Amino acid sequence: MRYISTRGGGEPLSFKDTILTGLARDGGLFLPETVPDVRDRLDAWRALPYTDLAFEIIRLFADDLPDEALRWIVNKSYGCFRHAEVTPVVPVGPVHMLELFHGPTLAFKDVALQFLGNLFEYVLGETCGELNIVAATSGDTGSAAIYGVRGRARIRIFVMHPHGRVSPVQERQMTTVTSPNVCNLAVKGTFDDCQNIVKDLFNDLDFRDACKLGAVNSINWARVLAQIVYYFYAAFRVQAATGADTVRFTVPTGNFGDIFAGYMAWKMGLPIDKLVLATNENDILARYFNTGVYSASAVAPTLSPSMDIQVASNFERYLYDLAGGNAATLKKWMADFKATGTLTPGVTPHACFAAGRGDTAGTLATIRKYWDTYAYLLDPHTAVGVTVGSQFLDASAPMICLATAHPAKFGDAIRRATYLDLAHHPILDALMKLPTRMQVVPADTAAVAKIVRDTIEGKA
Ligand SMILES: *Cc1c(COP(=O)(O)O)cnc(C)c1O
Repeated sequence: MRYISTRGGGEPLSFKDTILTGLARDGGLFLPETVPDVRDRLDAWRALPYTDLAFEIIRLFADDLPDEALRWIVNKSYGCFRHAEVTPVVPVGPVHMLELFHGPTLAFKDVALQFLGNLFEYVLGETCGELNIVAATSGDTGSAAIYGVRGRARIRIFVMHPHGRVSPVQERQMTTVTSPNVCNLAVKGTFDDCQNIVKDLFNDLDFRDACKLGAVNSINWARVLAQIVYYFYAAFRVQAATGADTVRFTVPTGNFGDIFAGYMAWKMGLPIDKLVLATNENDILARYFNTGVYSASAVAPTLSPSMDIQVASNFERYLYDLAGGNAATLKKWMADFKATGTLTPGVTPHACFAAGRGDTAGTLATIRKYWDTYAYLLDPHTAVGVTVGSQFLDASAPMICLATAHPAKFGDAIRRATYLDLAHHPILDALMKLPTRMQVVPADTAAVAKIVRDTIEGKA
């Protein structure tokens, strides 16, 4: 399997080179040259435990990894989850919750970042290479990435978060990791500022080569890949429980990474009847799917900070498909969008997509309702999804809602919704006593570049 850039530049790369490169050198995102059709394997995969299913799916895309290595990576990545099923599916009221928060940082991003950390360690060990990861986070990516690579040889990580705009628990989850290979940078700006600094650093090819930069943001193909697995796993569980031929998924969406994995599963032939994209008030993507116009506006802070994103970096992968796989068209679209802040591709999105927006009042009401009626506590991101997903229920296609974080990470929202102090987890409570380390920096690429270089050269 080889990987090409959405912008058409460069030669196709192997899987290993793709994941080490992160963002393509022409500024595009990597996509597999072809998507395997797995319809004739679904029945053989149906009853597999999570790690065996992960092995079968990932090996189709990672054919330059030896089978034993991939097994080791998968087992190590998911052995640390606190649930034997890794991502269990629980029926709650009218929906099925796909619980993706049983990893070390209690967020769905662990599913991909534990895998990526182990994958990096294996590949760098083979080549005696070194990697300096630069990442932007609106909350959950940072801690999940840090837990994926902390203490590992050959890897350093620099994580930028918008100063004061991640929840106190999220901040502690990052800044209490004081391993020497972890550098937390609090940027005086928004998440989009952080993301732009990462893009600028990657687009400076000299800097990128000199500093051996690597990416763990959802632009890294390995993250999308690891997330494809749980769409299959959940569909199989719910089909077995309900006898349904097809299922629907609702995905609380920010950067379009998670739902793009669902779209890949659909392309591979998993019978997905609808992929419901749910946003909070930062609804550029919901507006796009409902109006055909992709138009950025200012970021508004909400109760679901990991979805407070306007320009969704992974959306380019989907636009590439909408452009019929024509890199020239895609490049023109991206240039137009960059120049005007608006894009009207004029191509109808695939019928599997539906979209909606859950606002703050609706999110709080959903949390309250699920607690009062079903004694099930939703985190605010999951609640945005359930709010929107509830508008797309269908008797013949059960609804699977992705539960993307443990509610204990967002205690304030839970208190606002229920007037009760319900949101606790011993792992998070323990963080309050630990020492922290972070550096506050301006929203300026040159300032961050200097920190990265000085740290690598041992000056910082
Ligand atoms: C990152 C995140 C999301 C959004 O996922 P994308 O892949 O960026 O669309 C939703 N919920 C939580 C809790 C997250 O951490």
